[in-house]
Order: sequence, then structure tokens, then C-alpha cells
Amino acid sequence: SDLYSVSEWSGGYFFIAENGDMVVVPEPGATERAVSIAEVARGIRERGFDMPVLLRIENILDAQITSLNETFRSAMAEQGYQGSFMGAYPIKVNQQQQVVEKITQFGSRYHHGLEAGSKAELIAAMGMMHDKKAVLICNGYKDEEFIDLGLYATKMGFTCILVVEMPDELPLIIERSKALNAKPILGIRIKLSAQAGGHWSESGGERSIFGLNTSQLIQAIDLLASAGMLDCLKLVHYHLGSQISNIREIRTAVYEACRVYAGLVKEGASLEYLDLGGGLAVDYDGSQSNFLSSRNYTLKEYCTDIVEAVMTSLETEEIPHPVIVTESGRALVAYYSILLFNILDVTRFHTEPLPLRLPEDCPAPLEYMHQALQDLTIRNIQEVLNDAIFYRDETRRLFQNGQISLRDRSLAEQLFWTTISEINRLAKELKNPNPELTDLDRVLSDFYYCNFSVFQSLPDSWAIGQLFPILPIHRLDEEPTRKGILADITCDCDGKIDQFIDKRGVRRYLPLHELRPYEEYILGVFLVGAYQETLGDLHNMLGDTNVVTISIQDKGEFEFVSEQEGDTVAEVLSYVQYDPKGLFVRFRETAEQAVRSGRISASERREIVAAYEAGLRGYTYFER
Ligand code: PLP
Repeated sequence: SDLYSVSEWSGGYFFIAENGDMVVVPEPGATERAVSIAEVARGIRERGFDMPVLLRIENILDAQITSLNETFRSAMAEQGYQGSFMGAYPIKVNQQQQVVEKITQFGSRYHHGLEAGSKAELIAAMGMMHDKKAVLICNGYKDEEFIDLGLYATKMGFTCILVVEMPDELPLIIERSKALNAKPILGIRIKLSAQAGGHWSESGGERSIFGLNTSQLIQAIDLLASAGMLDCLKLVHYHLGSQISNIREIRTAVYEACRVYAGLVKEGASLEYLDLGGGLAVDYDGSQSNFLSSRNYTLKEYCTDIVEAVMTSLETEEIPHPVIVTESGRALVAYYSILLFNILDVTRFHTEPLPLRLPEDCPAPLEYMHQALQDLTIRNIQEVLNDAIFYRDETRRLFQNGQISLRDRSLAEQLFWTTISEINRLAKELKNPNPELTDLDRVLSDFYYCNFSVFQSLPDSWAIGQLFPILPIHRLDEEPTRKGILADITCDCDGKIDQFIDKRGVRRYLPLHELRPYEEYILGVFLVGAYQETLGDLHNMLGDTNVVTISIQDKGEFEFVSEQEGDTVAEVLSYVQYDPKGLFVRFRETAEQAVRSGRISASERREIVAAYEAGLRGYTYFER
């Protein structure tokens, strides 16, 4: 049975092989080209890279770009749509040069473009893009420098579209266009009344920060007309939010946007593009529902519904079908990266054996707890649980008041946990255990200490409780006999993962294997390509992880196409304004003083200084 629901969230890219290894394929269903992720991890080790490692499989990026473009194309062909589809990848979703480079490379056959939301992103895009047909959408608040760069791009022949996000931007754009003698391609971001649920919905709806309301739209049209530039307005844009789980919200927004599009055409704008922003969700938990970590639609449904909504709402107005643009980022890049890390240690929950008989002068609450344990049967589980908790609290209170000894309290804890373990064992026989009883699995689960930082590598897990599929990448042919929650190495009490995907909602523990002596146990967190690298931070000075990219070949062999070393300690220190060289010089002096005062010998100083220097050059994570 698929304990980790792999087939539900894998998008067809990941499977469990018969030998128990997790495998990846270059495109959905291409099982004959499967590559073992455990084998890749071994290859990474052999090349001298330590865990944690972010593993990218570039074929997946290629396949996702293809599937988005092809699905839109076939939805358009099926319905007789007269316009076309053009994608624009939003750089913010994963800004790494390698990612953007690969998107422009793989996307070139579809003229897949880029979306820039800031000056820096525009500068990156202008340096990476070659395809003049692909759109380069400029969103975000724009100053004069940003506008000038966009206008230069247009002059050079790029389809660079400056999207007016705020009413005040337009006079500046008009002024700069005249000054640079450039004919801009303009877009306008609209505020919709339709609003989606979910974490990111604040970027849509009438209360959204960006975009023009209807009266501002009319003012903008009038301003453009009076400047003789109404023909420059080519695009209508909106963005409902990221990870829109419910298809109905997506459809409602398209209908509303089309009404605005039609209205602007009637006002004399020669529009060509309808840009729906992002929103295409990823089914992280495999539940195919409108849960936050899921989506209640397929890609085919998404494309078909959008095309149909645009056609039906514009048909009555006899308006030519626009080029449909989407700025999907999450759905393009999420599948392509896997975070791999090793387990450093486990603390196992286990109860100390109880003494055969309680001591003679045992305090009363302990006697009662002991009696409750003796009386435990499947019929009085809840009652015994209530008693155990009550008497445990009572002994704590007595201890605080100095009425019982430390030894008595320790015995009370032993009794309590033995009772809870027994209750949990018996509760498994109940047909419908209540939530308090099912929660005992979590209460009694082990801690697996993991070599990574939640804050650096899975920031959304910490910040918004986003769920990601997590499982071992090997030993999947063995039954996982332990239940664990994951603790990272930041020593922050928030540095943990205790919620995991489950078809019915959320599971509070992860089924895991027992560690074997001298054998590495590696877990993979899947679908981490979107936002996580970008949003990660330097909590506890744990820096960027190593990144390894592979490409799967025709015969199912793979090549290591690039390796990027993660941050060294010196690099992370310099990000927070330390001067690593200066630190080293100072440390050497401190060590010299220790020699002078006779605390260490000169040769010990040499060793200590060498260790400090090696530390500066080393990886910020636990090294083997
Ligand atoms: N376009 C804009 C303007 C955005 O703000 C975002 C992110 O929220 C995106 C596109 C990316 O959307 P998604 O994460 O749904 O791919």
C-alpha cells in the first residue's frame, strides 16, 4: 500500500521501485527511464558533497513547461479559439540564475517569456532573454529607472510590457516615453471584486494593494487618449493570488476580467493580451481537494475552463480573441527540486520499566494512578486516560508545593507514560477512537533529528504551515515501524515539522524506519522548487545548501550537469556584515595570548587556529 500517497501527489514523476528506492522519471509515466534517487544521493556523496542537498532534475522543468503550453494549445484547438497562449515565468518564484536560464532555454519553442516584479528582476530578465516574440511583463511599482529600462527593452525589439499598477505611474510613463522617443507597450492591472480564499488571496480582490479600480481605469484611458497614446495599451492584467485551490474562483475571476477587457475595447483601446497572472496550484498533499495544499482541478480543466470562459464572455461582444497570458511559476518549478537530508540522531520515546511494587510510603496520587493502570481494559480506556492526566497534574502540583520528593515525581512520570503507552496500544482495537485517543500516536512519537534548517529550506512550512510530501528515499520495501516528527538543527522550538500530508487532511507523525548502525538514512522533501529557496533565511547562520542538478538521459542514465556549493561559514558571516578575515586575525591574537599565559602550548595553538580556519571554509550544516 502507498503509505506516503506517492501516486497521488507525484504528478507522474516519482514512484517507489520494487527494491524500495524512490525513483524519478523525466516525464510523466516514462517508467523505462527511471532513475533511483538513492543512487543519485550516493553519487553526490562520492563526489564529496555533504547533505543537505537540493537536487534538481532539469527534465522535469522541461516537461512542465511543455505540459502547460501543450495543454493550453489543445484546449484552444478543441474549442476553436482564435487567439493563442503565451506563458510568462515570474522570476520571484525561483530567482536562481540556473532556473531562469533553463526556463528560457526549454521555453524557447513556445516563446515562453518572463515576468519581472522589480528593477533587479527586470535587469536579470533583460540579460537572460533573447526571444523577441516572448513577452517580458513588467509588474511591480516602477520608478523612473525601471520605466526607462523597460522602454529601452521595447526600443530594442523586446515585447516588453509595462503594466501600470498604480494610477501615479502612468503620467511618469508617458513623460519618459516622450523623453526617450519610445513607443511603449502598456498593460494595466485591474482590481477584481472576485476574491479567492487561501493564504495569498490578499493580492486579489477590491482591497488588493495593486491594481486600478474602475474609476481609475477610466481616468487612465482618458489620460492615454489625451496624450495620443491609447493605441499603446495592449494588455489587461490581474492576479488573484498564488495556489488557488478552487477552480470556481479562477473561473469567476476570468469572467469578470473579460467584462473589463471588453469595456476597455469599447473605450477605444486596441487590446491584444489578457494576462491572468498566477494562481495555478500544486497538489502537494495529493487530496485533489480545495484544501490549501491542494487543488480541486486538473491542468486540463484549468486550461479548458479559462479558454471557454474567455470565449463565451467575449463572443457576445464580438471582440477578437486575445492572446491569453498566464504567469504561472509555482506549477512550473515546484516538482523540479527535492531537498535531501540525512538523519543525525533519534530520541525514541520509551517508558522506563516500573518497579514490581510501589514503595510503602507512596503518595496517594501515585497509588491511584497505579490502580488505574491495573484496571485498564478496552472498555474503560477514556476513564483511565482522564485519571492518569488528573493524577499526573496532581503530583506536579504537590511537587511544586514541596509535598512530594523528586524521586516520587519521577515515579509518577514513569507510571503516567506507561499508562499512556498501554492506552495507545489498546485504542488500536477500537473501531472509532475519539480524536484524543488517535492523537496519542503523535504524543508518543520519536524525534528524528534532521540535518537541515526549516527556516532556510522550507520557510513556508514554518511561516504558513504549508505541507510538503516527505518520505525516505530508500528502504521503502520495508515496513516503517516507527512514528516520528522531524526536528531540524536550528535549536529553535519552531524548527520542526510535525504535520504531514494525508489523503484525509493532516497526519501528525511520519511513518519512519529504525536507524541502522553505520548506515545513512536519507529523507526527501518533494515539490520544493517554488518559493522555498527564495524565501529562506539565515536563522542560526545556516546558509544555502549545496545544489546538484541532474539530467536524465534517453536510456534512463543520468548526468550531473551542475554542482553549486552551498554557503561556507565565512560567506554566511559576511552576509551579516562580519569580516571573516578580521575575525581570523583577531582569533589568532587571542590564541597567542592563551600561549603567553600558559593555557595552551604553541603547537596546540597551531592546531586550534587551523581548526578555526577550516571552520570558516566549511559548510554551515553538520558535516561527516
Ligand atoms: N504573478 C504575480 C503578479 C504574482 O504576484 C505571483 C505570485 O504571487 C505570480 C505571478 C506567481 O503565481 P503562482 O505562484 O501562482 O505561480
